[in-house]
Amino acid sequence: MSDDTIFGKIARGEIPADIVYEDEHAVAFRDLNPQAPTHVLVIPRRPIATLNDAGPDDAELIGRLFLAAAKVAAQEGFADDGYRTVINCNADGGQTVYHLHVHLLGGRPLQWPPG
Ligand code: C5P
Repeated sequence: MSDDTIFGKIARGEIPADIVYEDEHAVAFRDLNPQAPTHVLVIPRRPIATLNDAGPDDAELIGRLFLAAAKVAAQEGFADDGYRTVINCNADGGQTVYHLHVHLLGGRPLQWPPG
């Protein structure tokens, strides 16, 4: 599958990002427009456009994205205080980059519900 999104380029190391965690399956980097003191995006190296495009074969990979987010939360020092993970899907969900990503937001109390 081809992936010309900005996140695909980051995953392939073609453009720089402020990477805070990476492994064989996932890359986590700081959002350029942070909505909290820590705002990190966790992406799979393999391109999946939206959550709707994930299939049963992606179940383990998607689990790995959330485990990576929890690891970064611990690294950032707010795992015990708490944090939020979010996947936006398609237009009404507010998705703007069509390479699946988990937002990790932390470092301050977060409001609920989101807008
Ligand atoms: O869920 P959504 O697709 O809207 O999230 C995309 C996120 O990617 C935004 O939070 C935006 O600030 C971030 N972004 C980025 N670097 C880019 C383009 C978008 O960090 N070059």
